[in-house]
Amino acid sequence: MYYIIIIIIFLTPVFSGCKKPPEDNSSLKKETLTINSGRKDSLKNNIFVDIPEGIITKLPTKENVIALTFDACETKSPAYFDEGILSYLIKEKIPFTVFVSGKFGLRNKERLKELSKLDFIEIENHSFNHFQHMENLTSGQVEKEVTENENLIFEITGKRTGLFRFPGGNYNKQNIETVENLGYRVVHWRIPASDPDRHVTKGRLVKWVLYNAQPGDILIFHINGKGYKTAEALPEITDSLKKRGYRFVKPEEYIK
Ligand SMILES: [Zn+2]
Repeated sequence: MYYIIIIIIFLTPVFSGCKKPPEDNSSLKKETLTINSGRKDSLKNNIFVDIPEGIITKLPTKENVIALTFDACETKSPAYFDEGILSYLIKEKIPFTVFVSGKFGLRNKERLKELSKLDFIEIENHSFNHFQHMENLTSGQVEKEVTENENLIFEITGKRTGLFRFPGGNYNKQNIETVENLGYRVVHWRIPASDPDRHVTKGRLVKWVLYNAQPGDILIFHINGKGYKTAEALPEITDSLKKRGYRFVKPEEYIK
């Protein structure tokens, strides 16, 4: 009996992660809610939760536009650009934004420099050290996180950043003020693709994004090797959105 209980406990997440994507939209919503609420760090930035003033999750427009944004950060092990994602977006000349952290920028200097030369790619600021909880830092430390990374990105690309995204989506009111006082706008997202979830399938990623997409939306994916199905899912996502009349834009065109 004891063994059976242990086996059930261990197998439950495996089975739930392998569930086929649901066919109708109502059950899809329930299922994706479970994916997001299971992730502590993204819970408060979940699209079903209120976001405080100063955190931009949608572009201020009614136009049929969508911003594709990608986080490029390194945590414990070395991280590199996901070339599968890059080759598709570059081939199609689809505008997108990359939020780069300092460690990732240092490791991927040459590639970052090349990308910055393409005018449809926007490089923005994701802090120097990528502290998962910047709400535990002093204002001085937060300032340093932003400006050190800005200077590094400037050194590599020759361009200044003006948009900031907090690591893990974690912040407090004071953090927002500090970053805004440096002349930045804080850009997060309304739709988390949940692509760092190892259980996410291409089909579910596509359905989740297409089900939720609205004019002015900011989508977040990962381009640091943690978006396990992102490169596979992107062509279908962008093609379907284009068919619905959307075009892709860089947030700076609407925010700065
Ligand atoms: Zn990050």
